[in-house]
Formats: sequence, C-alpha cells, structure tokens
Amino acid sequence: MAQAVKIEYKGQTDIEKPGTWPRYKKGMCDSCMAGCCTLIVEVKASDLICLGLTDDWEVENCLKELVHRLKKQKIITRFDIKTQMFTLEQKKGSDCLFLDKNRRCRVYDKRPDVCRNHPLIVGPRKGHCPYMPKR
Ligand code: SF4
Repeated sequence: MAQAVKIEYKGQTDIEKPGTWPRYKKGMCDSCMAGCCTLIVEVKASDLICLGLTDDWEVENCLKELVHRLKKQKIITRFDIKTQMFTLEQKKGSDCLFLDKNRRCRVYDKRPDVCRNHPLIVGPRKGHCPYMPKR
C-alpha cells in the first residue's frame, strides 16, 4: 500500500506570491485543493487537438474561426497571435474550466503539456507549488 506523503503545512501559501509556496513533493496532489488549477493556463494548438477540441486541418486553415468558436463555447478567453498560445477559460473563483467539484481534473489523461510539466519544469517558481490542503 502506498505511504501517505507527510507534508508540513503552516498555512503559508498565498497563491499570488510564489515566494510563499512550499517545495513540491510527489504525492502532495492527493490532499491538495488544486491551487495550480486556479492559475492562468496557456495552451498550444496541439493541446487543444489532444483534448479533441479541434484538429490539424482547422488549426492550419481556419484559425480565426477556431478562436471565435472556442471563445463562444467558453473554452478560451483569448488567443495571442505572437506566442500562438490560447488562454483557457476560468470558472467562478478562477478554477480552470476542466476542474470538477471534487477538485480533480476532468481531462487528466489528455491534460495540456503545461499542466503535465508544472511545477518541476514550468511555473512561476520551479520546484514549488501553491499547495493548500483540501478542506
Ligand atoms: S486542464 Fe486539468 S490539470 Fe490543467 S489546469 Fe485544468 S483542471 Fe488543472
């Protein structure tokens, strides 16, 4: 049986201040309220394809219409033409649109690269995350 991860949490996390974030440890996510899923999430076209929200052809040939459709469907809020990144829509309280009521990712197996790589490879403070225990 897997051992529960021991986490020393002193109520220090301020999501807006990465300097207050604790060091990430494997297994922490099980008891976390998913603060990382309340940060702004920017994804690539390939992430949207992986999520089944578009396909190569639409990205190549109808980018403007795709952006319009995804905004209308409340999947993205914006597209940055310079960086070619799409910003995912957030729900009330800044939750990612894919976060469920149990604070689990509904698309975990197909989640965007930025989510897979946070917090060890990408993020405001690499190796640290906005851990807060579930209430
Ligand atoms: S796609 Fe999933 S893992 Fe990524 S921010 Fe949204 S809920 Fe979290």
